[in-house]
Amino acid sequence: MSDFLRKYLFADRTVRAQTVDLTTAWQQILANHDYPEPIVRLLGDLVAASVLLSANLKFDGTLALQLQGDGGIPLIVVECRANLDVRATVKVAEGAILPPQGDLQSLMNPGGRGRFSVVLDPPKRGGTAQPYQGVVPMVGDTVSQVLEHYMATSEQLQTRLWLGANASRCAGLLLQRLPDIGGHVSGQTEPSWERALQLANTLDEAELLEISSDTLMHRLFWQEDLLAFEPQAVRFRCPCSREKVGNMLRLLGQTEVDDILDEQGQVTVNCDYCTRRYVFDRVDCAEVFASDQPNALQHRSGERH
Ligand SMILES: [Zn+2]
Repeated sequence: MSDFLRKYLFADRTVRAQTVDLTTAWQQILANHDYPEPIVRLLGDLVAASVLLSANLKFDGTLALQLQGDGGIPLIVVECRANLDVRATVKVAEGAILPPQGDLQSLMNPGGRGRFSVVLDPPKRGGTAQPYQGVVPMVGDTVSQVLEHYMATSEQLQTRLWLGANASRCAGLLLQRLPDIGGHVSGQTEPSWERALQLANTLDEAELLEISSDTLMHRLFWQEDLLAFEPQAVRFRCPCSREKVGNMLRLLGQTEVDDILDEQGQVTVNCDYCTRRYVFDRVDCAEVFASDQPNALQHRSGERH
């Protein structure tokens, strides 16, 4: 069964393994976007990685991978919430010609000014918690290389990622070496981490995309003693709403909105993530500006918990 995050722990508790494979959620992310193949591969790697990394979030917030590029793709954002709701968006520069075999470097960083950030956004309770943003050097040809470097410096934990994506599926495997707290299983000379790496290094992308993640785990680690946790479902879900778009229009200001109304007769906002279309005519806009100011709204939503 796909669309699950699965977590495992080696019996000696020195290695954590996690897998994700998405079909429905991934195809929903791609739906209504006509992304060319290199974007599909890159985005799929990022979506799988976001689920694997958010699996260890210690708060009920959102993990976002934000890539700002200086080439044909100026922006990619992938968000995964603690409940494993994912959404993603890609901006392609107008008239951009993307190399068919494009990778992270050629698509996002051809001029060397690309930025890769990992943003940890805590839940908005009272509006005080600030997001944490770690900027990751865009060094490496693949998303996994960049993120392995990030994890080594930010989490101080050795982490390896295997990621793969095509138009119908994206999948990933994460191995993480946990702090050694002693208690080795007797009779095993080679540490679990070395063994796990050796086994996982036999994995290629085709295999990652062809077989289900539980079959994959069994095939790689059938000789290992693994504790398996309850799988967690991953869904595509965009939390955009008419109310949020209304707040955005308020922030834009009445003058600006009136200008758009004069020019176009209505204000149309398309959600970049799910492509949902919100239309506000003159009466809708008048209602937006007649109601509470955004500050008052934020204050109210902050009291809701
Ligand atoms: Zn949306």
